[in-house]
Amino acid sequence: LGKKGDASVVRYVRWNPNVDYHRAGDWSFNALLQHLDGLGFSKVEPGFPIPDKSYFVDPHIDCLLCFSATTNWWNSDIWYTSGAIILQDKASCFPARILMEGWKEGDCLDATAAPGNKTSFISALMANRSKVYAFERSGVRYKTLETMLARAECRNVLPRRADFTNASPESDEFARVTHILLDPSCSGSGIVNRLDYLVDQAVEESETIGERLEKLAAFQLQMIVHAFQFPAAERIVYSTCSIHAEEDEQVVMAALSSPSARERGWKLAPRAEVLPAWERRGRPDEMDGVEGQSGLAESVIRCLPEDHTNGFFVACFVRGLADAKKRN
Ligand code: SAM
Repeated sequence: LGKKGDASVVRYVRWNPNVDYHRAGDWSFNALLQHLDGLGFSKVEPGFPIPDKSYFVDPHIDCLLCFSATTNWWNSDIWYTSGAIILQDKASCFPARILMEGWKEGDCLDATAAPGNKTSFISALMANRSKVYAFERSGVRYKTLETMLARAECRNVLPRRADFTNASPESDEFARVTHILLDPSCSGSGIVNRLDYLVDQAVEESETIGERLEKLAAFQLQMIVHAFQFPAAERIVYSTCSIHAEEDEQVVMAALSSPSARERGWKLAPRAEVLPAWERRGRPDEMDGVEGQSGLAESVIRCLPEDHTNGFFVACFVRGLADAKKRN
């Protein structure tokens, strides 16, 4: 995996429109570009390596700017301290972007929200409208989530310190939840400089790496199957910052063949709905040929440090609303 100092390591800055809607002054995307101009930065065409004192607008996420690894103009800059920009890796922007594709109305649920980067991007993509229920089980991480949501001015988010698997899908308050994000705990093996992480976790708990992955995968599958039960849900995005097929393609295949998926009509969204311009797709050897299906790997996304992102995986489950109503 990439190390700091490699050309593959870059810095991403996401413009947060929630602040623009609310605060006096000009916090628009164009105002941000003008601010950078004033700081002596040049806007260049997308490409690597990025020259010093330059940046480009990301070709896949249009509110994301990309800088070289040595850049840190945001330290104590008003755009950063006000929450009008957020530091977020490009791959970590994909789940919210894919989840909210085509969204017009309906509530959203983020099952595993802290520290809250993806929640705040969902809120921004909803223009702070409707509701986002944001679950977080850990008390310490929940506090970070609250701070992050306040700073990013997410006024449509309802944070909840609770275990998602205890949330009742039949509860009236979730009757309008059409979109669900699942970004559960994972090995973190995709995070640049953290390939040793999984070994550390396993050693601490005197497990083998295989046992650790097996436990994580069982938990990840449980979360997806629980999300499948929400009666109005039409779109569910599952993501990990893991490069292990055990937590990625294999979990998706297990979810697709679960009784809940079959009963409720959950399938993978076609490539056309899952960031089609992103070239690196899933591993066909892990997905094709299972129960005679082919081409499934095209529906999911992988990212690697050579893409100038962390290692990452995203899948999107969908079902038609008419089907959903019939089956529930
Ligand atoms: N989506 C977050 C972001 O982009 O900022 C990162 C989420 S992190 C990978 C996974 C989070 O899920 C952790 O904070 C963990 O405490 C929380 N978590 C794990 N199991 C959970 C559960 N059953 N219910 C709610 N939260 C859970």
